[in-house]
Amino acid sequence: MKQLPAATVRLLSSSQIITSVVSVVKELIENSLDAGATSIDVKLENYGFDKIEVRDNGEGIKAIDAPVMAVKYYTSKINSHEDLENLTTYGFRGEALGSICCVSEVLITTRTASDNFSTQYVLDGSGHIISQKPSHLGQGTTVTALRLFKNLPVRKQFYSTAKKCKDEIKKVQDLLISYGLLKPDLRIVFIHNKAVIWQKNRVSDHKMALMSVLGTGVMGNMESFQYHSEESQIYLSGFLPKHDADHSLTSLSTPERSFIFINQRPIHQKDILK
Ligand code: ADP
Ligand code: MG
Repeated sequence: MKQLPAATVRLLSSSQIITSVVSVVKELIENSLDAGATSIDVKLENYGFDKIEVRDNGEGIKAIDAPVMAVKYYTSKINSHEDLENLTTYGFRGEALGSICCVSEVLITTRTASDNFSTQYVLDGSGHIISQKPSHLGQGTTVTALRLFKNLPVRKQFYSTAKKCKDEIKKVQDLLISYGLLKPDLRIVFIHNKAVIWQKNRVSDHKMALMSVLGTGVMGNMESFQYHSEESQIYLSGFLPKHDADHSLTSLSTPERSFIFINQRPIHQKDILK
């Protein structure tokens, strides 16, 4: 893992990543996917404010990288902004873990294929290791963020009503559903206060993933499409209602059941949605 050069940091750094529970979950999920995970468990306690935990079965983090894994602008994914031309990962800024350490107490437990046991690291507010000890988890990485925003009372106040907290759980669920559709062979479990809120098994393709999320009734009224423009090098594919579909099944007054992805990233953009 290397520190990005200063010029690249100036170009890419975004000061606005960790602003909510869902933004923490998004960054952790994307790290798990970048690590090749096929199984991800997301656990929240007290709507994520007491605890957010994301466990994966990905490649793990090498012991030699641990001292810098959560220090800002260290990343294993690119060496400089020129590498963005061939980007294949979600992450590239090396900012997420460092930003999460700024607003919560972070533990990272990790084990690679060549480690004999996992190691749990306790990190400080700047992402440096405070302490470490052996632990018993299998290959992969578990990131635990405790007491989110405890040092930012204003932010915490924003989530003081039950409605806002419930909305946040819904947003996390929708995010997980998006990645679950995008990655059919990914298993996901989402737990809040020890209750399973949503889960998805590994399935063979996008159609099966959509069936598990939307149901067979809806998918029976949908058909797949593909489109390729030679000129613009754009490839489009997806599922839309059949022209003779039962619209009571396929049309909703809200857009919340439309899923749009660009280059493997879930997109929520009003104009595109329209
Ligand atoms: P970025 O994803 O932009 O590289 P992050 O701060 O999210 O920055 O992560 C820093 C680094 O820590 C990553 O480049 C990666 O090497 C390592 N890392 C983080 N999460 C995981 C994970 N779940 N599994 C394996 N490695 C991880
Ligand atoms: Mg990342």
